[in-house]
Amino acid sequence: MDLRIGIDLGGTKTEIVALSPTGEVRLRRRAATPQEYDAILDRIAGLVRDAEAELGVMVPSPVGVGIPGSLSPATGLVRNANTQCLNGRPLDVDLSTRLGRAVRVSNDANCLALSEAANGAGAGHAVVFSVILGTGVGGGIVVDGRLIEGYNKVGGEWGHTPLPWMTPEEYPGPRCWCGLHGCLETFLCGPALAADWKGQGQRDASGIVAAAAAGDETARGALDRHADRLARALAAITNLIDPDAIVLGGGLSNMAHLYDVVPRLMERWVFGDVGRTRLLRAKHGDSSGVFGAARLWDKGW
Ligand SMILES: [Zn+2]
Repeated sequence: MDLRIGIDLGGTKTEIVALSPTGEVRLRRRAATPQEYDAILDRIAGLVRDAEAELGVMVPSPVGVGIPGSLSPATGLVRNANTQCLNGRPLDVDLSTRLGRAVRVSNDANCLALSEAANGAGAGHAVVFSVILGTGVGGGIVVDGRLIEGYNKVGGEWGHTPLPWMTPEEYPGPRCWCGLHGCLETFLCGPALAADWKGQGQRDASGIVAAAAAGDETARGALDRHADRLARALAAITNLIDPDAIVLGGGLSNMAHLYDVVPRLMERWVFGDVGRTRLLRAKHGDSSGVFGAARLWDKGW
């Protein structure tokens, strides 16, 4: 049996999936993410070994791991992970040692991009730009099925580029945890949308959308500003790589109005007409990360 195993290492939950060569799910399981580095290594190794034992796998399967951060090609160590205990650690090497095989580690937005381009919303499109709009904001680029991680492995790090065409009121933008001001993440993430809404109620995407639908003008305003900023941000990436399809994942991608409003707003900012570009909701939802991690050993990575 020729399985591929994917691990999505989240801040609170760690998920494992085992995919058949044709992409069918053979096993899928979630466990809590420990808050200490060695315990995380033990948890991942245990999930992999248990899965292989249960499926009767005799030969070690390739393992890919998606993390909310990346491995620095200069140092080989994890950087920019919001699961802090991972930072400064050689996660791929330590997991390889524990599991007795090579392990590939990549950013969770890259995993979303791989998964959605392979058999999700972006399937059949040559150039796919995928975005996570959630607690954080990230991006990933896949061209002809191949992930463009970049020379320094910062390819697609769209969330930490500045909001384009800032108004005087927006400039210089909130300070980001990365140390800069005005990163897209500080305008487009879930907490930023919630902070922009001055009303009372359930402060997640569905709550703010419901408030707007019920006539709350402050909720409507916050959603309008968010959509306009997202359009500017996607226009800038379109001017650079002009993707065939843009796929939105993460909690905010469930806001249905984005797929109607944002493409029209983008027309104002893109240097050319963009009526052919598709803006699509991630097909695999919350599972995109773990499916993409299992695909880190696919062609050309
Ligand atoms: Zn930033």
